[in-house]
Amino acid sequence: MAYIREIFSSIQGEGPLVGYKQLFIRFCRCNLSCAYCDTDFDIDKSKNYSVSELLNIVEKYSDCHSISLTGGEPLLEYEFIKEFAKQSPLPLYLETNGTLVDELNQIINCVDYVASDIKLPSCTCKDTNWQIHDEFIKIASRKNAFAKAVFNECINDDEIEKMTSICSKHNVQLILQPMMIANKPSVSSDFMLATLNKCLKLYNNVRLIPQVHKFINVY
Ligand code: SF4
Repeated sequence: MAYIREIFSSIQGEGPLVGYKQLFIRFCRCNLSCAYCDTDFDIDKSKNYSVSELLNIVEKYSDCHSISLTGGEPLLEYEFIKEFAKQSPLPLYLETNGTLVDELNQIINCVDYVASDIKLPSCTCKDTNWQIHDEFIKIASRKNAFAKAVFNECINDDEIEKMTSICSKHNVQLILQPMMIANKPSVSSDFMLATLNKCLKLYNNVRLIPQVHKFINVY
């Protein structure tokens, strides 16, 4: 059993799979508390599902490209995901904060895509354990994986050096995602491009992709 906050279909609004229709399964709870978090994963508003109950729902969404396992932090439910993956009719796309290394190791063979955050202290207002992100992305790179860094005007050269170094080391694409305030980027176009250019000087597999679903008001 696992507590799930919501199940809905929509387009993927972030990263390289932007625009694909996905079924989103939002798990409850998170092991982090980022300053910019706007996700409602409150366990009190959720329902407890068995794997078979979830499979019955999922089979109605055969027009989706894949299933986004999101949260909160879905890896907190890795045992449930492992069972679900055995019978999932669609590819699994794990959206994770990139910090639970042991849990990822348990299910890396069960998922098809890994979208892993790299948390920047300048944006989350918390410390970042870069070694953990490094270990996590190393495991994720065994699958179709990319790293995503949400940034604002406080991003600094040390963070740029560290995140490009991790992505380069494990040969995964880095997606720069400007922090949004309501439905608008929190930084100017010039700042976004300057940040992209700084990253590209250190690693050539970097893209700038804002949260597209917020521009078109689709959730
Ligand atoms: S990791 Fe994601 S869900 Fe968890 S607090 Fe940070 S932004 Fe919110």
